[in-house]
Amino acid sequence: MKPQEGANLDIDDLTTTKNVRLEDLIDRESLKEVITSFVTLFGISVRVYSADGEKLADAVEQQDICKYLNELPDGRSACAATVATVKRTSPETMEDIVHPCFTGARYHIAALMYDGRRVGRIVLGPYLPAEVKEVPGSLMTAARDAQPDQLRQLLPRMPRARAETVHNVAEHMRGVLDLILFSGHKALLTSQMHLASVRESYRELQDKNHRLQDAYDKLRELDRLKSNFIATISHELRTPLTSIIGYSEMLGEGIAGSLTSDQLEFVNTIREKGEQLLTLIMSLLDLSKLESGSLALVKTDVDVCKTLDDVVSLLKPNATKADVQLAVDAPAEGLPTVRGDANRIRQAVLNLAENAVKFTPAGGSVTLSAKVGRQVMDEAEDDIGFALIAPARSVIEIRVADTGIGIPEHEREKIFDPFYQVDSSSTREYGGTGLGLSIVQRLMQAHDGKVSVEPNHPKGSVFILKIPIDVDP
Ligand code: ADP
Repeated sequence: MKPQEGANLDIDDLTTTKNVRLEDLIDRESLKEVITSFVTLFGISVRVYSADGEKLADAVEQQDICKYLNELPDGRSACAATVATVKRTSPETMEDIVHPCFTGARYHIAALMYDGRRVGRIVLGPYLPAEVKEVPGSLMTAARDAQPDQLRQLLPRMPRARAETVHNVAEHMRGVLDLILFSGHKALLTSQMHLASVRESYRELQDKNHRLQDAYDKLRELDRLKSNFIATISHELRTPLTSIIGYSEMLGEGIAGSLTSDQLEFVNTIREKGEQLLTLIMSLLDLSKLESGSLALVKTDVDVCKTLDDVVSLLKPNATKADVQLAVDAPAEGLPTVRGDANRIRQAVLNLAENAVKFTPAGGSVTLSAKVGRQVMDEAEDDIGFALIAPARSVIEIRVADTGIGIPEHEREKIFDPFYQVDSSSTREYGGTGLGLSIVQRLMQAHDGKVSVEPNHPKGSVFILKIPIDVDP
């Protein structure tokens, strides 16, 4: 038997059973089935009421004598008065009450208790006690308008039972309802406990969610402040630094008078270090602008083959000095243009090519190539099953391949983080700031493109840029 829906009891109330209500715990349909089976067995009508007097279920056999009396004015009012009294009668203890009817029949009223508390009552009847053999005087008086013959004929048709039997039936029924109540209470308690624990977990989850959101908001705000701070500082440092570089250049050129070789060497060191510092400051500025989304791209149709040629000419002197071969491998017929900022795309390729030359020992080679490729438009590009069904787009694929020192697999993700360097020791062989790749990554994001790295064979690394062909039609 399932508990009534809508029962909304407090857990504390449930465990103390102080608010347990019959109507909350029993299913009326099932209760009806149970009492109908009693009526079929014993032939006596049964009604079950809640503590508030609400009828929860009944199985009633209309008696012929009752039907007859209800058709007569006197009989009807006498019947109504008996029924009203029976309805009002409610035993407070386990002591049953037997209420007599003017017909000589009786009603047996038994309290339903749960955990020492009255939760309802059962009314059995009317039934005719075994000792009533003739039409009693009370019936004759109450229904003066009735035919005595009819009464004599109809009264014996009423179910007969001994008071003791009815008491036993009531007792038995009480036992059955007790069991039903107990299991209903158990089910209700379990479901309420379950609900309460789900509610509690949900509340905890919500709580954690709020705290996470707060932390995230704070971090975002801090990040924004950091980017602003870096942008301001870099900007303020750039102006005096440009003067330092400019004046040391002038000194080096002898504009302020000739210098001794030692003085020239010192001035050149000041200029070189100043330029290094300026590069770092410019990188920081770029990064903070890219992070805050305030970098304005000047978009045109960019010829990527020309970009590669420009980068190679820029880097040729350095590569030659380092004894690294530098070459371009692009289709002779050219490539479709991409929509983007030519200077920023060149900056990205230059960063990769500079790294490639820097991390390639003498005798090695660096090759810049470009071709039309396809890119699956989702992060799960590596998932072969997904790649087959995911939409793809046309991209220009620029590859910067070197035969240098290579990058261990576990470092390949991290090198795109700002300031990350595979060798970050103070004794490291290669210079740099660790900002180049993070700028490349953000520049690609700003172009709706992507940068990735894979090993070159037999040694070295290949950095791949993918820029969509029709990004801004
Ligand atoms: P930087 O070159 O100024 O240190 P980057 O952000 O450009 O900073 O690169 C981050 C790190 O990634 C480098 O310090 C280096 O360890 C590694 N790296 C980048 N390019 C290459 C490459 N072509 N070969 C080997 N390692 C590389």
